[in-house]
Amino acid sequence: MAKARRSNTLFSAQNPSSKKGALREGLRSWLAAASDALVSVVFPADCRICNELLVDSRRVPICPKCLASFARIFASTICEICGYPLFGLQQKERQPQLCPACQNKTYGFDCARSFAIYQGPLVRAILLLKFKQIEPLGQWFAERLSELVASERDKLAADVVVPVPLHRQRERERGYNQAALISKPLAKRLHLPHKALLLMRTKARPDKRILTLEERWESVRGAFATRPGSQVDNLRVLLVDDVLTTGATLDACARALREAGAKSVVGLTVARAIRNPLPSSVEW
Ligand SMILES: [Zn+2]
Ligand SMILES: [Zn+2]
Repeated sequence: MAKARRSNTLFSAQNPSSKKGALREGLRSWLAAASDALVSVVFPADCRICNELLVDSRRVPICPKCLASFARIFASTICEICGYPLFGLQQKERQPQLCPACQNKTYGFDCARSFAIYQGPLVRAILLLKFKQIEPLGQWFAERLSELVASERDKLAADVVVPVPLHRQRERERGYNQAALISKPLAKRLHLPHKALLLMRTKARPDKRILTLEERWESVRGAFATRPGSQVDNLRVLLVDDVLTTGATLDACARALREAGAKSVVGLTVARAIRNPLPSSVEW
């Protein structure tokens, strides 16, 4: 009886017609949600990288095996400044570990760190984030970056989290900034303010898809500026991007932030491109 009465209310047989419409609408969306849930049980999703069936209902559409396959970079084997993995290089006692590039060059940022090497499944995962706007994946990456920050708490300390911005036109075309899909949940995890509008890209990236090393540096030189009126003075900034390729983008952003008075800039990226063959002074 109770059941029948409840369903009567649900269908609002005795309600005025305006309420009736609202209830019908509510029922319709409830049925739609229920059928979505049913679809995911009857037709479970595949891992977006290896196409294996996802056995549990995961928010991140990538299987545990693929997530575990990312080649993590560990703090004990990196260049202390730019975070480049120093494969097999012997650490000289009491001397900072620096890669060949950092021995010859000074970046605009104080240091940079990355979660894993930009290769194999991680390339696919970054593309999913970049072009499919998979927010749970951005959250998963943010968790990994927050672990990185915790592992070098003093060196990576910051007051604000800032995503590397896209040029206004590019962001309008894409509808979102993929770096912010990582930086926003990261700021939340670190209990820091997220300042997505602090920096802006004033010069668009050239249309050419592949840029040489020199072209990369040239294309971002002076391409970023802090937004007029924004408070940057004395701030320690955590600058977030998806991939660090040459360091040119982080460098240009950091220079704009330092010029505006930032106290320090730490670059944090999910992936780090490495050069093959292994780094030598000639390659750099
Ligand atoms: Zn997989
Ligand atoms: Zn370095």
